[in-house]
Amino acid sequence: MSEDGAVGIRCSGVSRQYNDGNRIITVLHDFTERFRPGETVAVTGPSGSGKSTLLGLLAALDYADHGTIHVGATELGSLSSVEQTELRAGRISYLGPDHNLLPILSVYENISLALSLKRLSEPEIDRRIQESLRSLELSELAHRRPTELSSGQRARAALARALASDNPVLIADEPTAHLDARDATRVAGLCATFASDGRHLVILATHDPAVASRADRVIRLRPQAPGAGPDDP
Ligand code: ADP
Ligand code: MG
Repeated sequence: MSEDGAVGIRCSGVSRQYNDGNRIITVLHDFTERFRPGETVAVTGPSGSGKSTLLGLLAALDYADHGTIHVGATELGSLSSVEQTELRAGRISYLGPDHNLLPILSVYENISLALSLKRLSEPEIDRRIQESLRSLELSELAHRRPTELSSGQRARAALARALASDNPVLIADEPTAHLDARDATRVAGLCATFASDGRHLVILATHDPAVASRADRVIRLRPQAPGAGPDDP
């Protein structure tokens, strides 16, 4: 981690395979890439090309079969699952396809819970929550539970939580999948703005060319041939 808290990610020769009954599926093969603080990177590619797999690895939700991933100075392959969770709480906000909002808590309480893991004063927590809700036009819905929101509002609430957490890395898997064009543009813009202060790295998987076009650069994944792997010609 650099002095201002910014964090980059380095992937070197990363592979991930799944055992699909009687055959091995190679989803990522020898993936090498460097992600720098201050950039927004869009990961695109057809369905099944490994976008979610890659993001899960970068967010320390899964382990690579080969290669190394460093988040700052931390090599993810060496982490226990408890250490993975600690890394996410302190450095990585992960927005998954199902948003991971707790159904028994309001939007406000969901964000507050994420911030309670950090050493912040109550007024600072409240300030951050109000600001993130405002930026996503959710202030009026702060008291509602996730089940009382539309899917687009839930997606925005999950992004509000990530922005309020202010972790140096934001990894979002299809963050605009449930949004109309206006909301998608706004979310893509907020992600880009989040990164543009130079302290945050944003990596998002997207099918949406309009969202990808807002990113600083695009990484396009290609589906691997069945069975392809290190030993194949
Ligand atoms: P994308 O997000 O680009 O649609 P995914 O990373 O979800 O792609 O999936 C890539 C490939 O890996 C797909 O063929 C999918 O079926 C397979 N896959 C993903 N997760 C698993 C798993 N846990 N077990 C077996 N195969 C999986
Ligand atoms: Mg996916």
